[in-house]
Amino acid sequence: MSVAYELARCIVCGSADTHEIADTDDVHTEIESLWEHHSKRLRPETPPPHLMDRVAFSERPPLRVVQCTTCGLVYRNPVERPSELGKIYGDESPTTDVMQALHDTQRASYASQAERLTSVAGRHGSGLEVGSYVGAFLAAARDEGWQFAGVDINQCTNAFTRSLGFEVIDGTIEAVKSRRVDAVAIWNCLDQLADPPSAIRAARGHLGAGGLLALRVPNGACYATFSPLLDSSFAFVARNWLAQNNLLGFPYRFGFTPRSLTRLVEQNGFEVVHIVGDVLVPIADEWTRPWAAVEERVVKGLGKGAARLSPGDMPLAPWFELYAKTHAQT
Ligand SMILES: [Zn+2]
Repeated sequence: MSVAYELARCIVCGSADTHEIADTDDVHTEIESLWEHHSKRLRPETPPPHLMDRVAFSERPPLRVVQCTTCGLVYRNPVERPSELGKIYGDESPTTDVMQALHDTQRASYASQAERLTSVAGRHGSGLEVGSYVGAFLAAARDEGWQFAGVDINQCTNAFTRSLGFEVIDGTIEAVKSRRVDAVAIWNCLDQLADPPSAIRAARGHLGAGGLLALRVPNGACYATFSPLLDSSFAFVARNWLAQNNLLGFPYRFGFTPRSLTRLVEQNGFEVVHIVGDVLVPIADEWTRPWAAVEERVVKGLGKGAARLSPGDMPLAPWFELYAKTHAQT
């Protein structure tokens, strides 16, 4: 399939001033390192579908990755035309076994997000999750006392999630009609959308006064910090940290940073109430070699502490969550 590319500008501040983080050759080298990293850590008999969320990314590799010199957003430039995105995500159809395995693996880590959501909101209520995928967060939120419905463009995963007893709307948040909720969550998904500002505006439209927006994204500041170290004497640490946290090869459309994401939500009528640095959810499963599962726990355990302590744009934190509220009176 041929792909059309176009030159981009920063979607947060509109600036065209950037510096390059990785060119095409750098990205290829990162992807080769990623294959090597995971092939060492998975058992040889691992069935190909289980590689899906590790090396066979839904997203194609970037041609070039840049950082906005004004607001810090990390993004692909040139970028695939948006019409290509629906094809990539809408057509993905994992088997029921794979979806159940993903649901089970992700549910435990989503439990802590559901708890954080409750703690920031100060109560339970209704919600919409954009990119509900295999329903792991919907289940964790229900366990916490929330009533979340999902929104996703993938009809195959939506059918699976409905089979678990959840309401899921086919499509994008922009297409959801007249629905008022207490919270909108976009976990691990805002970075893949064609137009994140439009999704934030749509989320705002579904929230009343004091409504909560909860976002979890890969941290562009972490990629911008560690990617240039891949040919330095810190290469081993940089490669391991980026690979463990799914940042090697930058398989995202956008790498928001705490600063650029704050700017984006403030532009759309929100006030940031909490930001926390984090590591990628655990991915070790039955196909992971035992030593690699231990390594993942140790690296992420140590890294999580460092991630939370890193100041400003949290360059040590590969992921972060941002919670923002609409103003009390609207
Ligand atoms: Zn910018």
